[in-house]
Amino acid sequence: MTERFTGSFTQQEPIPEAGIEAAIAVMRHGRLHRYNTADGEASETALLEQEFAAQVGAQYCLAVASGGYAMATALRAVGVQAGEKVLSNAFTLAPVPGAIASIGAVPVFVGVTDSLTIDLDDLAGKLDEAKVLLLSHMRGHICDMDRLMAMCNAASVTVIEDCAHTMGAAWDGIASGRHGAIGCYSCQTYKHVNSGEGGFLITDDPRLAAKSIMLSGSYMLFERHVAAPPKEAFDDIKYHTPNISGRMDNLRAAILRPQIADLATQCQRWNDRYYALETGLRDTPGLTVIDRPEAETIVGSSIQFLLLDWAGSAVREVVARCAARGVELKWFGAAEPVAFTSRYDSWRYAPSKPMAASDRVLAGIVDMRVPLTFSLEDCALIARIIRDEVTRINNRMTA
Ligand SMILES: *Cc1c(COP(=O)(O)O)cnc(C)c1O
Repeated sequence: MTERFTGSFTQQEPIPEAGIEAAIAVMRHGRLHRYNTADGEASETALLEQEFAAQVGAQYCLAVASGGYAMATALRAVGVQAGEKVLSNAFTLAPVPGAIASIGAVPVFVGVTDSLTIDLDDLAGKLDEAKVLLLSHMRGHICDMDRLMAMCNAASVTVIEDCAHTMGAAWDGIASGRHGAIGCYSCQTYKHVNSGEGGFLITDDPRLAAKSIMLSGSYMLFERHVAAPPKEAFDDIKYHTPNISGRMDNLRAAILRPQIADLATQCQRWNDRYYALETGLRDTPGLTVIDRPEAETIVGSSIQFLLLDWAGSAVREVVARCAARGVELKWFGAAEPVAFTSRYDSWRYAPSKPMAASDRVLAGIVDMRVPLTFSLEDCALIARIIRDEVTRINNRMTA
């Protein structure tokens, strides 16, 4: 019998009841704008920021309209000017180079290793081209952060972390987003917490926090924040920082607060599913599992494997045959971007030179979402289907 999977790869879990109730309360009192507070009240948004800052151990947190907005704000806050170059990953998703382009800056792409992390040797050769690195922990793969930070500190390159896929993850026990000057997160439906749209920015630097708050559209209401620097930090900044509205609202914050409180449990559930998949895929001939470094605390909300040096037609066949059995795989090697699978040479507004070693890896990356609506049995079944189809095509190629 040919096994099939019949579940959905895009179905998230419902919002926790506590979040639904808190959202209804916000709608009942009508104060949806973050600065629309009753006397002595801290808004849902301000409390959410306080709770997220405490969770990651950051001094300051700002909640905003999206992860992309958080990154653009971070780039502005550290002083990137139009026309300047910003280093970033060749393997990431479109909002990352998009954030750089949104402020008129120019992405310079750094290659990817077969561990799916930024190529630190390639980075070493490019550090003198820019003052800022927007580092994307793409698909949750964290590079050697000690080496990266030492390199960037030595070259006076400021690091901004894109933690859209690493909320809840860590390197050597330090939360992802706490190594660089600013960490940015997304609360969009397909990330680790779900408010439809939304994002966070965290930092320990009072100047960067004050600038970010002013940029996000604080008017002169910054004293209504909780996880913010004291008002003196705004003294000069408030006159010199443009308002580029991108605030979060209290409705989204209400939905998010219980999810942030529950994040550790959810991360554990993701990892149970991830390792069920990984176990099922290990030792499949022709398929390379991505081994995770010991120092990495992962959140397995997606899984990747490599079909390294396979012909494109053979990878396409695996993807099509798995799809026919209900398993949705995305391939980063396709010439044309499909859904979210774009890569550095897809972003033609930011010209780049081909990177042979990265192209070899990108051509082999197969990617799969792991929604929490999958059971552990679902994961074992999905792994069997992938294993079966990869083995079939691999046997034919090696016959
Ligand atoms: C989703 C995502 C973001 C932020 O996305 P928004 O949709 O703007 O919240 C940033 N980086 C990566 C790698 C992402 O996948």
